[in-house]
Amino acid sequence: MPELAYVNGKIGPIEEAVVPIEDRGYNFGDAVYEYVATYNGRLFRLEEHLERLARSMTALSFPPVSIDSIREAIVETHQASGIERAGIYLQISRGVDRRDHPFPQDSVPQVVMTVRHLAEKPVSYRQRGIGVITATDFRWHRCDIKTVQLLPNVMAKQRALDAGAFDAVFVSEEGVVREATSSNVYIANQGTIVTHPLTERILGGITRQVLLKVAQASGIPVAERFYTVEEMMAADEVLLTGTTTEVLPVVTVDGVPIGDGQPGPLCKTLFDALRKEAER
Ligand code: PMP
Repeated sequence: MPELAYVNGKIGPIEEAVVPIEDRGYNFGDAVYEYVATYNGRLFRLEEHLERLARSMTALSFPPVSIDSIREAIVETHQASGIERAGIYLQISRGVDRRDHPFPQDSVPQVVMTVRHLAEKPVSYRQRGIGVITATDFRWHRCDIKTVQLLPNVMAKQRALDAGAFDAVFVSEEGVVREATSSNVYIANQGTIVTHPLTERILGGITRQVLLKVAQASGIPVAERFYTVEEMMAADEVLLTGTTTEVLPVVTVDGVPIGDGQPGPLCKTLFDALRKEAER
């Protein structure tokens, strides 16, 4: 089952795939991306990922890209890999041109992809829970657009790892909990799930959509509203969701235990519900 790369229509080994040095994704971070997972050989929520991709490209005024051709490319490259549990990284840049800030005239968006084995998270993460640190949200104001400009996320993630934690949670200067470096964040209080509303300050996660749907179907009330770090610290449970994160229980924030410091029941229920939905 080979891991594969796709570059503008050509599928081949990842080590041989290259892009021009004047790709605007490389020079300016002028590129958007998606990461799709497969379960049992099937692409999970592909249409939702494609819709978000189209929204990101529209928000950045990219030249038109056929979403049908992107869907075909993803399906074809994934099929060629034959990987049952794959992580598919797709990136589209505005194009290649001499380095200059203005959008180039008639640039042709560049489409690249990798299809790799997706390693399951260690079971201990779910059984014992994970720790997060808080970090001031020093990102730009359009976090709803899924661009490759991820340096603040990369730096915060590394700070978390250096501190012995799993991830960092971005908090606004006013103390509002936004999201983690590659996951959405939730608190649970007296059986209700609370999560940041969809604004320009967070990415609308596809897993977030699924989580809210399965929570409602399981009779778990959900509130989309702002909440503070103090509320998070006092919550019964704190959870992260994302395509690779799935649903993870957070048991410490800045070293302080959440609840009794053990993964809570809602997290387990929601993880099981997400897996059921994904493996259906
Ligand atoms: N927030 C950020 C900043 C992310 O990078 C991601 C992962 N792409 C998410 C949330 C979760 O999104 P999804 O559920 O679509 O993977």
